[in-house]
Amino acid sequence: ARPDVTVDIYERLPVPFGLVRFGVAPDHPEVKNVINTFTQTARHERCSFYGNVNVGKDLSVTELQEAYHAVVLSYGAEGNRRMGVPGEDLSGVYSAKDFVGWYNGLPSCRELGPDLSCETAVILGQGNVALDVARVLLSPIDLLKKTDITQPALEVLEESRVRRVLIVGRRGPTQIAGTVKEVREMVNLPNTRPDMLASDFEGVKEALKDLPRPRKRLTELMLKTAMETPGEKEHERREKASRVWGLRFYRSPVEILADPERSSRTAGIRLAVNKLEGSGEGARAVLTGEMEDVSCGLIISSIGYKSLSIDPSVPFDSHRAIVPNNMGRIQEAPGLYCSGWLKTGPTGVIATTLNNSFDTARSVLEDMDSGTLNTSAAKPGSQSINALLENRGVKPVTFSEWEKIDSEEVRRGAAIGKPREKLLTVEEMLQVAGK
Ligand code: NAP
Repeated sequence: ARPDVTVDIYERLPVPFGLVRFGVAPDHPEVKNVINTFTQTARHERCSFYGNVNVGKDLSVTELQEAYHAVVLSYGAEGNRRMGVPGEDLSGVYSAKDFVGWYNGLPSCRELGPDLSCETAVILGQGNVALDVARVLLSPIDLLKKTDITQPALEVLEESRVRRVLIVGRRGPTQIAGTVKEVREMVNLPNTRPDMLASDFEGVKEALKDLPRPRKRLTELMLKTAMETPGEKEHERREKASRVWGLRFYRSPVEILADPERSSRTAGIRLAVNKLEGSGEGARAVLTGEMEDVSCGLIISSIGYKSLSIDPSVPFDSHRAIVPNNMGRIQEAPGLYCSGWLKTGPTGVIATTLNNSFDTARSVLEDMDSGTLNTSAAKPGSQSINALLENRGVKPVTFSEWEKIDSEEVRRGAAIGKPREKLLTVEEMLQVAGK
């Protein structure tokens, strides 16, 4: 929008694209096409990428502000909400954030080594992340082999003994957070059959007529799957299936139960049975006092991501886990902006976040035009930052150096019939980048 502006992007890892690379499910390659748009932007003559620079550690936000007229924080939500129940730290319990990072090749999750030697897995939360994890756990290995899932994850999944995955939500079918496409993928997943409880769907058919359209379609799909007798072909498919998935509603985690023989490991979960207070999206789960234990050897908590504060100089609302802002302008911090999940909290699909980021860009431009953002005096930009980084022994990775990593990953993938085989450590990424 302004030919006089240059943009430098700083990223902790030597590789770009954040959650598109490390969050999007490997069997959703079409979602990753947005990388083409990002690449076009990064190759623009007035845009530069500096990977392998950890803001908050290698550089402070204040140093960036001294070097640039405007600084936009867009580092996402790398933490996760905790269930806050006893036993949460037992082995066999993982956060979806780590589990997803593990199968997607996030260097910090490389050594997660999840134990998939049990039969039943419970996933807590019913958002799209929970559905992604359930699908990856139950997908036929031949499907995953053709994706960019990492080879070590593929090997563990190939040996997996998990046969049954329950996806547990605290509210009802008409409040499920996941979307119809992801639920349909479960319904159609080869070699699996659904296992739902008719009691979870009491009164749901009657509520259909008042639901907004997307939610109505989703609810109809779940009702059909749970309640209707399948046709002959579907019946046969289900009979043959060796793996099972199920949605469980009106259940909240109360305690992770330890294995009586190996007390550091989990052997189950205690769930509180809920009822709903109110209706629609805003309905609240209220305890009934009833409890239910489910035996399982694997528990994955998928109840949402959380942004973290990376620099004490930046205002942070730890209750809402976002940077307080007005259309991306960080309050009480002129020249400082935010975008992405740091700005909004961890909700919405990539398109939502793109649009939201355009709002932040618009705020920067408006502030330049109105003079709120003072750009009259020149600022040194990357020149001074590069000098600081050199003094600190940090070696930034440029976009063309990332493209070397990219080519190597694609080459390694092609050799085994995958779109790419990701490099799994920062050291190897730096080596391939020629650092
Ligand atoms: P989410 O959609 O916000 O789902 C979080 C789930 O956790 C909800 O079912 C929520 O239930 C539950 N939950 C929260 N706190 C809880 C608690 N204390 N006890 C029990 N349950 C609790 O989050 P997400 O799945 O992490 O996904 C984040 C965003 O990324 C979403 O907007 C999602 O659509 C998007 N995403 C999209 C895709 C895709 O398009 N394929 C894939 C992955 C992620 P309540 O509803 O009762 O709060």
